[in-house]
Amino acid sequence: MERKIIGFHRDQKGDWVADLACGHGQHVRHNPPFENRPWVVTEDGRASKLGVTLNCVRCDALELPDDFKSYKRTAVFQAESVPVGLTSSHATKPGVWAKIQVLAGQLMYVVTEPINQAFLLDSEHAGVIAPEVVHYVQPEGAVQFYVEFYRKPEA
Ligand SMILES: [Zn+2]
Repeated sequence: MERKIIGFHRDQKGDWVADLACGHGQHVRHNPPFENRPWVVTEDGRASKLGVTLNCVRCDALELPDDFKSYKRTAVFQAESVPVGLTSSHATKPGVWAKIQVLAGQLMYVVTEPINQAFLLDSEHAGVIAPEVVHYVQPEGAVQFYVEFYRKPEA
C-alpha cells in the first residue's frame, strides 16, 4: 500500500533509505544506470520528496516494524463486552500498529481497505493491524482477546 515519506537515513553501507510513515524503510538508491534517483544525493532533493508516497509491500504483508515497541494494551474483552468501536469499521492512527491477541475461542478479523482480507484468529494466530488500515472484528461465539498497540520508541 502507498505510504508517505517522512524522512531519510543512510544504512551501514551509506545507501539512502526513505523512512515511511508506517515505520518501514525503503531503499532509494542512486546507482546509475540501474537506479536513477539523482535527487537523493542532495539535501534539497530529499526535502522535495517528503510527503511523496511509495508502495510498501511490508505493509501489504502486515509486517510489524522490527524496532516498534508495545506501549499500551486494552482490557481483556469477551464476546458480550467487545466495544462497539471495535466491531464497526475503524483504523489506527498514522504510525500506530496493533496486535489482536486471542486468549480463548475465535475472533474474525476483517480488513476492508485498502485490501480486502479476513483472518480467523485464535490463541495460536494473532492478528496484525497496520496503521490507518480500515478494519473491524467479529466474535465467533465465546471469545477472550485483547489488543496491544505498538509504535516507534522515542529517540
Ligand atoms: Zn510499511
